[in-house]
Amino acid sequence: MAIATINPATGETLRSFESLSDADVKNAISLADKAFEDYRKTSFEQRAEWMHKAADILEADKANFAELMTLEMGKPFKSAMAEVGKCAVVCRYYADNAAKFLADVLVETDASKSFVKYQPLGIILAVMPWNFPFWQVFRFVAPALMAGNVGLLKHASNVPQCALAIEKIIQTAGFPQGVFQSLLIGSDKVANIISDDRVKAATLTGSEGAGASLAAAAGKHLKKTVLELGGSDPFIVLASADIEAAAVTGTTARMLNNGQSCIAAKRFIVEEPVADKFEKLLLEQFQALRIGDPMQEDTNIGPLATHDILKELDQQVQKSISGGAKVLMGGKPLLNMKGNYYPPTILTDISPDSATAKEEFFGPVAMLFRVKNIDEAIKIANNTPFGLGASAWTTDTTQQQRLISEIEAGAVFINGLVKSDPRLPFGGIKLSGYGRELSIQGIHEFVNVKTVWMK
Ligand code: NAP
Repeated sequence: MAIATINPATGETLRSFESLSDADVKNAISLADKAFEDYRKTSFEQRAEWMHKAADILEADKANFAELMTLEMGKPFKSAMAEVGKCAVVCRYYADNAAKFLADVLVETDASKSFVKYQPLGIILAVMPWNFPFWQVFRFVAPALMAGNVGLLKHASNVPQCALAIEKIIQTAGFPQGVFQSLLIGSDKVANIISDDRVKAATLTGSEGAGASLAAAAGKHLKKTVLELGGSDPFIVLASADIEAAAVTGTTARMLNNGQSCIAAKRFIVEEPVADKFEKLLLEQFQALRIGDPMQEDTNIGPLATHDILKELDQQVQKSISGGAKVLMGGKPLLNMKGNYYPPTILTDISPDSATAKEEFFGPVAMLFRVKNIDEAIKIANNTPFGLGASAWTTDTTQQQRLISEIEAGAVFINGLVKSDPRLPFGGIKLSGYGRELSIQGIHEFVNVKTVWMK
């Protein structure tokens, strides 16, 4: 994939970049390794000062960073503004909590003193996707750097200017040279980086294919990985739920980021007695969405990030239709618009066992399933290779407990939108990956948990 900024709203190539050479990559690793020698010895107070500065820079230049995201991958500008704000929040969260999360933990044993000590590992490689081009990187950077690690970023090839802007933020915040570098490279160079002895671990957010490839390369050299992969989250609506609220939140949950979010609600599973009502309300909500220029304040749905994504989504929808699915609205790319536009789409009558019902639709397409009861709802919810998030709507407390314990996912939200929050761990099971980001669990992923025993 070429490393370039191509405006998804127009198809225009605005800037192209040469990939770094192998020698450039080696130099970057050497610089990171050298930086780690001193950086690991810096105090939490010092790192926190720099991290707070990074948050301040993000907020001070919010509109410019947001514009860059919208330009490179097409998310509505107002969502991009919110994303920059959230990055500042995660920087401050780890700046304020890292020392507490990584403090020595005393454990009473037969020693005169024994304790657990958390130490940084060294260079961590982060391979990141384009869909939340700032957030995905900052949710890695904030804990990793606060723990005393140094980072190398291989960002998605369609958001190179975001990658460079993030590197500049970290540098301007005062972090020493080499502590965080963006490498403009294609995915073909990733395995080689992992094989370098000085690179200690890697994290990837993206598709299963990319995750499996990174994990295989890392496994060959016995290096730890964290994988945040795809999802096909269920959104379960049972009869006792507040149906209006579920339809409004369900629309946000499906349409956020033009439908290109790993934790978007992708499969709506609705109990029969309320299915007609929910379907009608969801349809109304979808019909009210404004599609258009993502830079405009009142746009809800912008273009998909690349032409390939549009093509793939179209193929999935056509495959579903050939398999018997009915189209309640949408169902075809908006070819009359310049750019990668796909309309909000609702598919019904899909067989839960069909191949497409188990796939991830990365765009504004909702699948609607009707079920007889909670048993069938849970069965369909779990009938997918993914296990990232789940949103379930019911006011019945017994049903809530069943949903919490029986849904196979890294997160269950009852009567609410699945979202990430720095205070709560984030990650999946099954093909959605392993390991956790955010919260105390996130900062513990890339540290040496050292046991100390003293007599
Ligand atoms: P992708 O193709 O897997 O790309 C993600 C990153 O991996 C990019 O930097 C890409 O580089 C790189 N990459 C691709 N193939 C690789 C390989 N074989 N070895 C090493 N690196 C490789 O992902 P996408 O399709 O653009 O992104 C959407 C996917 O990400 C969806 O499945 C979505 O659900 C998932 N996602 C998950 C989370 C989460 O937190 N669980 C969050 C957001 C997105 P290039 O751009 O150069 O190809």
